[in-house]
Amino acid sequence: MSTPDCLFCRIVAGEIPATVVRETPTTLAFRDISPKAPVHVLVIPKEHYADVATLGQGDPALAGEVLATAAAVAEDEGLLGDGFRLMFNTGAYGGQEVFHAHAHLLGGAPLGPMLARDLA
Ligand code: AMP
Ligand code: ZN
Repeated sequence: MSTPDCLFCRIVAGEIPATVVRETPTTLAFRDISPKAPVHVLVIPKEHYADVATLGQGDPALAGEVLATAAAVAEDEGLLGDGFRLMFNTGAYGGQEVFHAHAHLLGGAPLGPMLARDLA
C-alpha cells in the first residue's frame, strides 16, 4: 500500500525524481542523494513498510527480494570483488531518517570500521 506522505513511496510513484539503477516488479534501487561512498545506492521494497523489522516479519519473501536486488546492483556496480556493506538503519538508535524500509548499499572504497566509535 502506498503512503502519500512518504518520500520513498513518492519516488516509487514517480512524483519525485530519482536516479534509478534497477527496478523489479517489487523493488526499486536508486542512488542516494547525499552519497557517503563512491557507490551509495538505496534498495527499497515498492510496498510501504516502515523499517526492516516490519518488512522482515510482515513479508519475508519481499525482504529476500530486496536482498536479491541489492546483490544484483552490487554486481552491476562492480562491487563483488572488493566487497561492500549493506545496512538497514532502524529507529532512533539506528539513525533512521526515512521511515520506508531501505537498504544502503555502500562500496567502491574501503569503508572503515563498522561504527564511528566503539560503544562497548
Ligand atoms: P536513513 O538515515 O537510513 O533513513 O537514510 C535515508 C537516506 O535517504 C539518506 O542517506 C539520504 O541521503 C537519502 N535521501 C533522502 N532524500 C532522498 C532523495 N530524494 N533521493 C535519494 N536519496 C534520498
Ligand atoms: Zn513509503
